Amino acid sequence: MSLLVVGTVAFDAIETPFGKTDKIIGGAATYASLAASYFTQNINMVSVVGDDFPAETIQQFNDHGIHTDGLQVKKGEKSFFWAGKYHNDMNTRDTLATELNVLMTFDPVIPQSYQDCTFLMLGNLMPAIQMQVIERLHNRPKLVVLDTMNFWMETAMDDLMKVIKMTDVLTINDAEARQLSGEYSLVKAAQKILKMGPKYLIIKKGEHGALLFNSEQVFFAPALPLEEVFDPTGAGDTFAGGFIGYLARTKDISFENMKRGIIFGSAMASFCVEKFGTERIMNLEQDEVDERVQEFVDLVQFDITLV
Ligand code: AMP
Repeated sequence: MSLLVVGTVAFDAIETPFGKTDKIIGGAATYASLAASYFTQNINMVSVVGDDFPAETIQQFNDHGIHTDGLQVKKGEKSFFWAGKYHNDMNTRDTLATELNVLMTFDPVIPQSYQDCTFLMLGNLMPAIQMQVIERLHNRPKLVVLDTMNFWMETAMDDLMKVIKMTDVLTINDAEARQLSGEYSLVKAAQKILKMGPKYLIIKKGEHGALLFNSEQVFFAPALPLEEVFDPTGAGDTFAGGFIGYLARTKDISFENMKRGIIFGSAMASFCVEKFGTERIMNLEQDEVDERVQEFVDLVQFDITLV
């Protein structure tokens, strides 16, 4: 039993109202696998970087129990680079640069030792590559979760539609749900998107929490009201990593357990935004995670007696 995480491992340059970074470590697979590492042991990463990527960071992944046999390091090539600038509300951002670099020729090789994959997290990446990973697994995993973003809707919509059809849970943000469905109402958007293939849809709404839909039910989890959101980069991937990490630990993919998974994912995302990049989720203590989850429970618990 293992969790396979696919996605970008990258350099990011981030600008928020609080400050600016030079190139720091980022990437969808980075955030998702680090978040999952607080819940489950057997995590395998598939991605690609250039030889500009620090060996110490790969060591930090290993220290978190993340196996990197499937992380290709390309000699003489540059890692994926993304730059973004957040608006004052911190919920919206402009992408300033997306340099695919090593991603352009990425051929995702799945090591034999990864073939026992039961949970698959297809983090943000070219949809064609996400699809290749599903096809290259000898057995279909018990649960396939897919994350994507507007960039791929604009540049690779046909491939994206194909891979969406092959997944169990799609996670996107509210703007992406509207873009994908052409519907403003998120309830209508969810109905349309569920018809595209996935059994479950999670719509992330930043500081306004997340919605989980299947064809009959809906669940809402708030985000923790934080005094300060420092840097939202990676919050979505961290959320997804916490969600699938929790499901992998409990081996239960029922709607009820997904509700709990969403709370664990939201708790991890709330840490991610407290500092720039991966700084916070790289160095968490288990106690902090437990306390944060308890804060969520307290936040939404109430008694009502209907008269
Ligand atoms: P999030 O804030 O959850 O959307 O994730 C931000 C992370 O996604 C950053 O660390 C980027 O390196 C990575 N990223 C940005 N654009 C893309 C893209 N088009 N494909 C894959 N990963 C991306």
